[in-house]
Amino acid sequence: MENLYPWQSGVWQSWRKLRERSPHALLLKGSQGIGKLDFAMNLAQSLLCEQPKSDGFACGECASCHWFAQGTHPDFRLIQPEILAESDEDDDREGGKKKKPSRVVIVDQIRELADFVSLSAHQGGYRVAVIHPAEAMNANSMNALLKTLEEPSGRNGSVLLVLVSHKPQRLLPTILSRCLSLSMPLPPVEESIAWLKEQGVDDPERLLVQTGFAPLSALALAEQDSGEEYARFMKEIASPARLDALGLAERLQGQEPATVVHWLQQWCYDLGSLKLGGEVRYNAALRDSIQKIAGKINAYDLLRYQRELMVARREAAHPLNTKLLFESLLLSYRQLASA
Ligand SMILES: [Zn+2]
Repeated sequence: MENLYPWQSGVWQSWRKLRERSPHALLLKGSQGIGKLDFAMNLAQSLLCEQPKSDGFACGECASCHWFAQGTHPDFRLIQPEILAESDEDDDREGGKKKKPSRVVIVDQIRELADFVSLSAHQGGYRVAVIHPAEAMNANSMNALLKTLEEPSGRNGSVLLVLVSHKPQRLLPTILSRCLSLSMPLPPVEESIAWLKEQGVDDPERLLVQTGFAPLSALALAEQDSGEEYARFMKEIASPARLDALGLAERLQGQEPATVVHWLQQWCYDLGSLKLGGEVRYNAALRDSIQKIAGKINAYDLLRYQRELMVARREAAHPLNTKLLFESLLLSYRQLASA
């Protein structure tokens, strides 16, 4: 979380200047798929961090940062429509009986936010809430939010509400006028291409054109493209005791090395997250298997393996032998996960 996307460093500097004006409400606006929410989360974590670094980023080490990473920080709220907050697994468990998750931010969520704003911060510092996407608020929600924005804040310490929006024209003008606004940049095409290549995407140009030059949308599309192989891969590494590392390395030969390393990194992210009491982010369908493995592995070994993946990611652009690389990573993984 401590890393912004490369095209966001300028806007991070702009935020640091805006911050001196102690805004109570901030609007992050810009196209879809450029990392606005990730930026908002970095910003929130840095405000809550006990020892931010000199460049303004969260330290990633303090108690506050740990709570934040686990999604349990008492002075932080992420307000999203139910459909974004829910994992796939909840849907499965409830079968067809449950009503469809809401696509709007409902007024009850904003009322809870009002309560949160009026409380004192647990940690004596900031309280931060991110509303994403802000245009998902219906009319009642917007009116309720307006009330919160109109109330004199700061009685119990500092509060910052961050509205993340790619359609700010749908927000009430009275809301907009109470927010300091920060435009999030669409990166230059060359920069997006370079970044996507680093993520192991083969044909970034085509995907960027398809997604209006939004790099995160392009990445999501690339992952869909390779969806079938991805699902098969995840299923196999979900059973490390039965994993045929050599056979799988053989089969993966046609894949970009960076892509496969990225898949393993996502898998390890989920393992680490469940081990720390957080939630799965990438492989909700395999949550039970991830939980089982996470319970067995040693946190230090996992960290060491993640470092091995980071090195592999750097070298993935010019691997000497792709099959050998896959074999070594998968054998290490099997050793880690079936210990
Ligand atoms: Zn910190």
